[in-house]
Amino acid sequence: MLPTLPHAHLPLLEQATASRGNALLLTGAEYGGGAALARAAFAALNCSGARGMGGEACGVCPSCRALAAGAHPDLLELSPRETTSTGRTARRKIIPIGAVLQSRDKGRDYDTHVFEFLEVRPTYRRRAVLIHGAEYLGAEAANALLKLMEEPPHGALFVLLAGDVRAVMPTLVSRSTRLSVPPLDDPTMHEELARQVAGESSTLDVNGQELVAFAAGRPEVLTHAGEVAAALSAAASLHAALREGLLPTLEAAAYLEKSWTPWHAQALRFVWREETPHARARLDTALDALERALEAYANPGLSFMVFGLGARAALGEAG
Ligand SMILES: [Zn+2]
Repeated sequence: MLPTLPHAHLPLLEQATASRGNALLLTGAEYGGGAALARAAFAALNCSGARGMGGEACGVCPSCRALAAGAHPDLLELSPRETTSTGRTARRKIIPIGAVLQSRDKGRDYDTHVFEFLEVRPTYRRRAVLIHGAEYLGAEAANALLKLMEEPPHGALFVLLAGDVRAVMPTLVSRSTRLSVPPLDDPTMHEELARQVAGESSTLDVNGQELVAFAAGRPEVLTHAGEVAAALSAAASLHAALREGLLPTLEAAAYLEKSWTPWHAQALRFVWREETPHARARLDTALDALERALEAYANPGLSFMVFGLGARAALGEAG
């Protein structure tokens, strides 16, 4: 499916497509709409059909159809690596030099690196490199990228996405046209959700109020409604189990381990938002410790058990 943008983000699309520069830097929360905006701008720049209001792509020309099929030859997307060549979860997310140039470090090579991608002429109008998490570019990778951004082969466009502009290399920031993607208000989020549910062939069984509250103005969270609902349900089960007793807590913690996704930590923080500030601070400490343990390859079963016990203690429940 082609990205459809919230109306509130259409002026940003106009600015993005009108920019004459070689690089755009879109800042805002992850899932906040930056990635959808980047793809919509790319779609519009390559669209050969009649363009509608706000510069949205037509959706039916060959370029639009290729993008909708997830196989556009002129788009390269890069994300930070979270796993190393040995398959273990990396301690720190990074976009290594191997993503930009052929590097000696074969194990970290990306399938297609930027340099190689930009040697090829665009099939449609303009090739684009979309970089998710620009704050995770390693120094070597950022410097190599900077050289390409100064004189992009075949007039390619670079789109950098970042949550925190202060964490992006200043030289990359100064080379880019910066657009900030603000969170949407709740009424707009409900409209987005309604529009999305209307477009779904299957009926999505989600609590709209809860989903919108959880999303906190980030429209792309709505496209992960199923995963978020599962995470919220697992988090709510654990939260209830903490007061039921030790055994239910350990069972809920074991279930959490089996179903754990990046959404689960956010879901836990969301379900315990109504606890007292003191309890919440202690629960956050237990969750931080769990996330650090998982990053450090600790035994997951044990880590979740320790987390369950710590969370129970945070609520003043004995061992
Ligand atoms: Zn089109």
